[in-house]
Amino acid sequence: MKKCVMCGHRGLQRRTEQLDFGNVAVVEGVVYTCPKCDERYEAFKKVEELSRTVAHHIARRVERLNQAEIRFLRKYLGYSSKSFAQFLDMTPETISRWESTTSPKQMRLSTEKLLRYMALNERPVSDYGLDKAGSSSKASTLPRFRERKGMWVAA
Ligand SMILES: [Zn+2]
Repeated sequence: MKKCVMCGHRGLQRRTEQLDFGNVAVVEGVVYTCPKCDERYEAFKKVEELSRTVAHHIARRVERLNQAEIRFLRKYLGYSSKSFAQFLDMTPETISRWESTTSPKQMRLSTEKLLRYMALNERPVSDYGLDKAGSSSKASTLPRFRERKGMWVAA
């Protein structure tokens, strides 16, 4: 970064600071400041990699998740409040209560474990078709499999 977006001044000052990352971690990052208008520019490098590192760290912690951590993991997984509520078969109000700083409601431990597992898993849940699980109550016929080139495949 060379030029201030706000005032056009060239010659921003670069320094390293402890930055707040999504209210769930402190990250050592580069900050550019404009000596003319005092504008600040925080630059997180490799944000996706950083998000994954932070998400995995949170998911493996012994302590129960707090509101900010639940929110961070939900967003890390790419869910909006609404789509996460749909996926978990819960109301959007329940999701908001988990993430509320004013009147929080504790997430059930079983749901918290699922959220942690999802965050630690490299493949998004949609890859398994779990988004649609339970959407039909119709009894299906038994699935059929056969061996093909040494692999068991759906027939
Ligand atoms: Zn400036």
